[in-house]
Amino acid sequence: METENDSADLVARVSSAVKTLGGSVFGFDPLPNALAMYIPAVPPRFLYRTELTQRERAIAFVHELAHASLHPPGSKGSGENSDPWEERCAHEAARLVCVGYSVYDYIGVMASHGVIPDALMPADEPVGSKNVILG
Ligand SMILES: [Zn+2]
Repeated sequence: METENDSADLVARVSSAVKTLGGSVFGFDPLPNALAMYIPAVPPRFLYRTELTQRERAIAFVHELAHASLHPPGSKGSGENSDPWEERCAHEAARLVCVGYSVYDYIGVMASHGVIPDALMPADEPVGSKNVILG
């Protein structure tokens, strides 16, 4: 069962990870079709919808940190939503991290803010697709 302490632990760890990257965090409204956004600039920027609760923001930032691991600060491109496969992988990685910290209902939080179900679940991909690099 999830407790306030679980959520607080995840918030603290996410804040530490963003600080380690030298990231700047900004509330940004409106942020269409997203709870948060990562921009791989130097320093990196993390934007979030100001309406999010602290728990929702932590969940969203875990997702953004998954993108940050693939697009380090200074990388070209947006680092967000440009590759449906990466998007699904970022969601699944973030969901598992949240479960690891006893923070549940990742998918429910994303869906309640308009993230479409197809973007949330890794799908079986044909042989030779990008998922081969993960094996
Ligand atoms: Zn994403």
